[in-house]
Amino acid sequence: MDKDIATPVRTKAVLDKYGFTFKKSLGQNFLIDTNILRKIVKNAELTEMSGAVEIGPGIGALTEQLAKVCKKVIAFEIDHRLIPVLKDTLSPYPHVSIIHQDFLKANVNQVLRDYFSDDQEISIVANLPYYITTPIIMKCLEDKLPFKNMVVMMQKEVGDRIVAKPGTKNYGSLTLAIQYFTTAEIVLHVPKTVFIPQPNVDSVVVRLRKREKPIVEVKDESFFFKVIKSSFGQRRKTILNNLTNSFEQGKEKKELILACLNLAEIDPKRRGETLTIEEFAKLSDVLYDNFK
Ligand code: SAM
Repeated sequence: MDKDIATPVRTKAVLDKYGFTFKKSLGQNFLIDTNILRKIVKNAELTEMSGAVEIGPGIGALTEQLAKVCKKVIAFEIDHRLIPVLKDTLSPYPHVSIIHQDFLKANVNQVLRDYFSDDQEISIVANLPYYITTPIIMKCLEDKLPFKNMVVMMQKEVGDRIVAKPGTKNYGSLTLAIQYFTTAEIVLHVPKTVFIPQPNVDSVVVRLRKREKPIVEVKDESFFFKVIKSSFGQRRKTILNNLTNSFEQGKEKKELILACLNLAEIDPKRRGETLTIEEFAKLSDVLYDNFK
């Protein structure tokens, strides 16, 4: 039996065989440490009945470790040069399917329906291409993909924003969107040395557990996210000024927004970054009644 794909020797052999050159523009930093990969997989809590969805399999290092523990793996890869490589490296695992598509453009729900059974528990596991970490996570949440856990490697700065607390500089609309749908924790810190080529940034693995229902109930979800986004428009401005700048409505809108803030019991001089998700929910519902 061959060594695992993620060993440095095997990775180098695969890269040499195909004359593969890394594309920085596609965030290609491959993992060459099977211990780290096993830890990532363990955090996804997969069973032999689970399905796994990977974004960006590269040459199959993580895909192989997923294939060893679960029933079915599907992996979206954008780079056509990697498709024949993956066919080769993953040939011992017939329960792996490679989808040659840009994950951000794919109809992922349809793909999941095609490949998994209705009652199958699914987790998303990936060493993400860092240039699109946030859009990928937001797509998984906004498309309401039916995952149990999402265990993803990303640059440390983004991980810090995801788990940030109110009143800190990292707290923002990403924190709130993720908190709305999931509980988030950093489960692993990963050194640069386990990648080729080595990235310039430190990495962490974050686990997002999907909540059974969102943490707060709001009248209109997209309006709620609009309020959040508007509140962080310019971080140094007060919530009153940020909301006033982004809500279109006659000249009295500032007074109306002020009245809404009072109704929601939020001091108009506060900054968006100090509001909890419960306060945003309350404010969003009051604004919704007055602006919709
Ligand atoms: N999973 C491999 C590993 O851990 O060694 C490779 C991870 S590498 C950080 C990111 C991978 O995502 C690359 O294979 C890259 O080609 C792929 N990728 C980049 N953008 C993508 C996109 N929009 N959709 C799907 N795959 C993408």
